[in-house]
Amino acid sequence: MKIGVVGCAGRMGRNLIQQVVAAKGAGAELAAVCDRPGYASVGQDAGALAGLESLGIKVSEQASAVFAASDVVIDFTTPEATERHLMLAVDYKKALVVGTTGLAAAFSARLEEAGCQIPIVAAPNMSLGVNLLLGLVEKVAKALDESFDIEVLEMHHRHKVDAPSGTALALGRAAARGRGVELSETAVRSRDGITGARRAGDIGFATLRGGSVVGDHTVIFAADDERIEFTHKAGNRSIFARGAVRAALWCARRPPGLYGMADVLGL
Ligand code: NAD
Repeated sequence: MKIGVVGCAGRMGRNLIQQVVAAKGAGAELAAVCDRPGYASVGQDAGALAGLESLGIKVSEQASAVFAASDVVIDFTTPEATERHLMLAVDYKKALVVGTTGLAAAFSARLEEAGCQIPIVAAPNMSLGVNLLLGLVEKVAKALDESFDIEVLEMHHRHKVDAPSGTALALGRAAARGRGVELSETAVRSRDGITGARRAGDIGFATLRGGSVVGDHTVIFAADDERIEFTHKAGNRSIFARGAVRAALWCARRPPGLYGMADVLGL
């Protein structure tokens, strides 16, 4: 399976190169990689970029070349770049794995539309642990009534540009689904100043940023006199990259459709 990586010079991109190479036994082969035009890493060897031996694959600045050379492309870049990569995936009829977060709400419709033509796996978090947590949170939210206030707390490294994290929002959506409500009507995404008392049924979010934290998420169910907390802590980006490579191998031969990690992991 020929796998391409767009945004290969990023924190996730370098990890993705390592994990594609490591998945050789599972049939993965790194086909081509690129980063944005003019970026310092363009022209470098992909292996050297990822701290591996030379792979004889140069970092291109043309995403179209990556789509042409691959069966499936993995994209952990920026919302703007992912919009363009989605169009290329449709043009070249190639499968796409989207890990980028901070995508506009309207972009979901574009993903759905493209899913009629090509297989796509899109997930704000590709780790096994978080995907198990999503299922647990939905179940617990279904079992508990509004006397349990739901709060989602997340912490990420200082470079992260979107907030709350895509995973925190996915956890909020899972809780809302469990409760049978819409997250858009219940979410309180930040609090500042005189906010008034907490409204029953709200799903609150709190965001911390600092250091090199890869990604911590806690969902709190707080009632009078008792509190349930579920926490996932990512120790290394390789958990996301491994999940993305698994998604790439899984989706490349699927019929067109928009899939999530629950499909990939068979949860
Ligand atoms: P990063 O800034 O380190 O890397 C992004 C890379 O994309 C950079 O190298 C940048 O130059 C490149 N890029 C930007 N525009 C491009 C274009 N037009 N063509 C090709 N490359 C382009 O960021 P990161 O920490 O690697 O995270 C990337 C994205 O992945 C973020 O949205 C982050 O939230 C998300 N993420 C998702 C998961 C998940 O499991 N789904 C896990 C971690 C991070």
